[in-house]
Amino acid sequence: MLVDLTEYHRPTEMARAASLLARERPVTVPLGGATALCGGAAVGVEAVVDLGGLELDFIRAESDGLSIGAMTTLQDLVENRATRSFRSGVIAASARSSATRGLRNAATVGGTLAAGGLARADLPVVLLALDARVRVLGLDGQERWLAMAECTDGLPARGIIVEVSVPGPSRSGPGAGGAEPGAPGLPPPPAGAAFMRVGRTVSDPSLVHVAAAVDSVPDGGCAVRLACGGVGWAPVRAVAVEAELRGSDLDDGTVRRALERDLALTPPPSDFRASSTYREAVARVLARRAIRQACALAAGAHPSLGDAG
Ligand SMILES: Cc1cc2nc3c(=O)[nH]c(=O)nc-3n(C[C@H](O)[C@H](O)[C@H](O)COP(=O)(O)OP(=O)(O)OC[C@H]3O[C@@H](n4cnc5c(N)ncnc54)[C@H](O)[C@@H]3O)c2cc1C
Repeated sequence: MLVDLTEYHRPTEMARAASLLARERPVTVPLGGATALCGGAAVGVEAVVDLGGLELDFIRAESDGLSIGAMTTLQDLVENRATRSFRSGVIAASARSSATRGLRNAATVGGTLAAGGLARADLPVVLLALDARVRVLGLDGQERWLAMAECTDGLPARGIIVEVSVPGPSRSGPGAGGAEPGAPGLPPPPAGAAFMRVGRTVSDPSLVHVAAAVDSVPDGGCAVRLACGGVGWAPVRAVAVEAELRGSDLDDGTVRRALERDLALTPPPSDFRASSTYREAVARVLARRAIRQACALAAGAHPSLGDAG
C-alpha cells in the first residue's frame, strides 16, 4: 500500500517524468501497473509518476526484431500476434507463466523488469536468452541502452525503462554481421527458441526456469544462448556451455557433455524452496530439453502455444 503518498502525477512528456523523478523530496517513484507498489509495503514513497500518459504501451514487429514498450502489460504479451509468433512464442509463453491472469492484466513489462527478483517472473530469463536490450531514460535526461544482463535483478541505477528491444534471428544470431543472414531479400536463417520451467504448482513462481535460443552460424553448425534462473536466483547466461556448443550440430551427446560444465559462475542459491543441488540438477535437465526443443523448432517444427487465456 502507498500509505505515505501525497502526490500523483501523470505527465505526457518523458522529460517532465524524468524531472519529477529526479527530485530529492518528495520521494518519487515510477508507477507502472501498480501491482507491486500497491500490493506490497511501499512505505516511504511520497509521490508517484504514472507512466500511463507516455504512450509506452506498444508492441512493434520491426524488420530486425521486436520492440516492446515499457507499459505493455504481461497479458498483452500473451495475446499479441507478434509476440506469439516471434522466436517460437517464448516471450508470450514466459509472460503467461509469470503471473496469474489478474496480475497480468495490470503488471507491465517495465514494472516487471524494474522489480527484479521481487517480481518472481519468468519473462526476464527469456529476454536474457534472446539477447534483449533495455532502453532507459536516466534521471539526468540521457537515454541509454542496457544489455539485459545488466537488468536481470532490477535496474542498476534509477531511471525510467522506456522500451525493450528483442533482436530477431538475423541480428541476434552469432552470425549477424558475418554472412549477412538478415540481408534484404534473404530469408532469415533457421532459428528456434524454447522456455521450460519447474514450479511447485503451475501458478507458483518457478523454482528453476531455463530459456534457450538456437541460431545457425555462417561458418557452419549452430550456436545456442542459454539462460537459467528461478525464484531467488537472478537469471544468468551459461556462457561456458554456450562456448562449448558453438559451431556444433547440437546432437544430444555433445549437449549432454557440454552441460556437465558449470551452468553459472556461482552455484544457484539454496533456500526453503529448493537446495542448490536440486536447482542445478533440474536446470541441466531443463537446459537439455530446451535445447532439443529449440533445435526441433529451428528445423521446422511448430510450437504449440495453446490458447491466449
Ligand atoms: C499479492 C502479490 C502477488 C504477486 N505475485 C506475483 C507473481 O506471481 N508473479 C510476478 O511476476 N509478480 C508477482 N507480484 C509482483 C508484481 O506483481 C510484479 O513485480 C509486477 O510484474 C510489477 O509490475 P507493475 O507494472 O505492476 O509494477 P509497479 O507495481 O507499478 O512497479 C514495480 C516497481 O517497478 C518500478 N517501475 C515500474 N515501471 C517502471 C518503469 N517503466 N521504469 C522504471 N521503474 C519502473 C516502480 O517504481 C516499482 O519500484 C506480486 C505482487 C503482489 C502484491
